[in-house]
Amino acid sequence: MALSEFDIIARYFTRQGAYRDDVVLGVGDDAALLKVPRDRQLVLAVDTLVAGRHFPEDAAAFDIGWKALAVNLSDFAAMGATPAWATLSLTMPAVDKHWLQAFADGFYTLAEQYQVALVGGDTTRGPLSVSVQLQGYIKPGKVLRRDAAKPGQALFVSGTLGDAACALHQLQSGAVDALVFGRLNRPEPRVALGQLLGGVAAAAIDVSDGLLADLGHILEASRCGATLYPERLPASAALQNLPAGEVLEYQCNGGDDYELCFSVAPERRAQLDAMLHEQALSVAEIGVIDAQPGLRCKFADGRIITPAIHGFDHFLSDDDD
Ligand code: ADP
Ligand code: MG
Repeated sequence: MALSEFDIIARYFTRQGAYRDDVVLGVGDDAALLKVPRDRQLVLAVDTLVAGRHFPEDAAAFDIGWKALAVNLSDFAAMGATPAWATLSLTMPAVDKHWLQAFADGFYTLAEQYQVALVGGDTTRGPLSVSVQLQGYIKPGKVLRRDAAKPGQALFVSGTLGDAACALHQLQSGAVDALVFGRLNRPEPRVALGQLLGGVAAAAIDVSDGLLADLGHILEASRCGATLYPERLPASAALQNLPAGEVLEYQCNGGDDYELCFSVAPERRAQLDAMLHEQALSVAEIGVIDAQPGLRCKFADGRIITPAIHGFDHFLSDDDD
């Protein structure tokens, strides 16, 4: 039986999370109605994934649903914000029930993990494209902004870098490593870390287009420079047996890591260390913010080089948005 637009929404996109009592009106009316907490600022982010550009045409539907929400959650993590509600704009060439079920499962699995309620959206026919808008809130003064880095602050990055870029490279050669493919297809946004960093870190950004490019956004917004220590960039076990130069390239210029890069002032350092210890969070110190503009890499043997920031993005071709 053919499904109408209304049937699709009713069948796949009306799961009710029992975890939110701030949704006055969700999917089904002309607009959603939400209770925004007092004394909080509203936070919004939107990201669109287009087939053939942000994911392969034949990517698993579960992963597409997951990632469409994950990239927005990662933006929230980078602000230190609390996610709450989402809208979903779905454009697809035809109605494929198995695809829709798997897509909805991927989306809702992550949504439930972060207690995000899907409160509305739009469903149309056309080339496959998924746009998720995420809404949430933050305590004024706790926000992590790109323009808050200052000379003397230490630079950190969460988790490990380069796995997703390595996975893209492996796709070309046919060898498949489950760990790095998991990082590419189902990124784990660092929402909890971002919230903990509110009031502790100064500037933050999520690493989606490559560490150097994204750190560059902090430096530009904050009008300062940085020195990175390349040997300290964290790598997963999956990258351990690759040539050092290849690993460094993935870590610096690969995209899709969805880790947080942030700066911390010296007077907040003890607070950060205590928090990381208490929460058993994986974070590496990778450099320092300088007054001198530009980005330098300082190796353990004393060599200092100016890295090519746009030199290695052939993994993602011109896919840098
Ligand atoms: P209208 O044409 O009046 O905007 P729609 O038919 O587009 O209404 O949508 C009907 C209801 O279903 C609205 O509440 C809308 O937010 C919701 N909706 C539509 N598509 C989706 C979707 N993919 N996911 C979640 N909710 C959706
Ligand atoms: Mg509509």
